[in-house]
Amino acid sequence: MLTKENYFNQENTLKYFSVSQIKDFIKCEASFFHYLNLNNKKSFNENLAVSKFFDILMQKDNEELNNFEKELLEKGESIRLKNGNLKTKYQTAQDTFERIQKDPNLEYLKNLFDYNEKQKIFTGVVGGLNFKGMLDVFVDDKSSLEYLKSESQCAIVDLKYVSENSFYDPDEYFVKITRDYDYYLQLAVYQYLVYKNIGVIPDCYLYYITKGEKPLFKPLKLDNVELENRLETFIDFLKSKYDDDLVVGERLSALKNTAIDFLQGKGFGVFLEYCGTCDYCREHQPNIEVRKIVNDKIVRI
Ligand SMILES: [Zn+2]
Repeated sequence: MLTKENYFNQENTLKYFSVSQIKDFIKCEASFFHYLNLNNKKSFNENLAVSKFFDILMQKDNEELNNFEKELLEKGESIRLKNGNLKTKYQTAQDTFERIQKDPNLEYLKNLFDYNEKQKIFTGVVGGLNFKGMLDVFVDDKSSLEYLKSESQCAIVDLKYVSENSFYDPDEYFVKITRDYDYYLQLAVYQYLVYKNIGVIPDCYLYYITKGEKPLFKPLKLDNVELENRLETFIDFLKSKYDDDLVVGERLSALKNTAIDFLQGKGFGVFLEYCGTCDYCREHQPNIEVRKIVNDKIVRI
């Protein structure tokens, strides 16, 4: 049984696929494979850490907050200055959280988190693979659904605490990052898992809040037709040819099985594709291959 506590452990990382694993695989197969072994820690990224800190505050989970601080200290990082106060970026996140608790204009956002189930977990088969998904908020409270203008009996809200980008008009920017980070895929898989488990198609929302002293609050509903299309293209991708013998989904399963064997000390029998560009490849790529430029793109020879 998957719980909040064992959701990210080694066993379940290998047993289930998640959207973020798939995104890692699409970027770089070697890096995806390497981080299936949880002993291999990803390098620290302050931007992600601040977002995670804000998420944990919104979940109001003190135990998780303590664990988060402990994990950072193990990596030689801290959310605090020497005098014990929060570092500026974390303090800004804390200030935004506190404003949400007090500002009457933000009461519906507070209620979304307080009156609905947080970190609800769903599992199911997508394109032949076992998937798991943990929803920031699974909404079925009536007044929350009314606030979201949802036409369904339930909804999914995913919180995104994001940096602003002064080069863009904010609205244009939110549309761009929704596409660039492929949040359509994330929510399409969540929507499908909820539907498979409870038989209701939930409406899907991204709740963007920007980092900074004057945060922008932007709850956005994703279009169901777009979500359906994204799920379809994703399943097509899993069924597409990886090489002469395998489709992508089979390759993903083979990599998981190899990782399980490897962690059990049964040797290592797979040839990995290195993207040659990501942080992992910069440090670990064994043979740097010559590639060629075709139509302004770098491809294998
Ligand atoms: Zn790579």
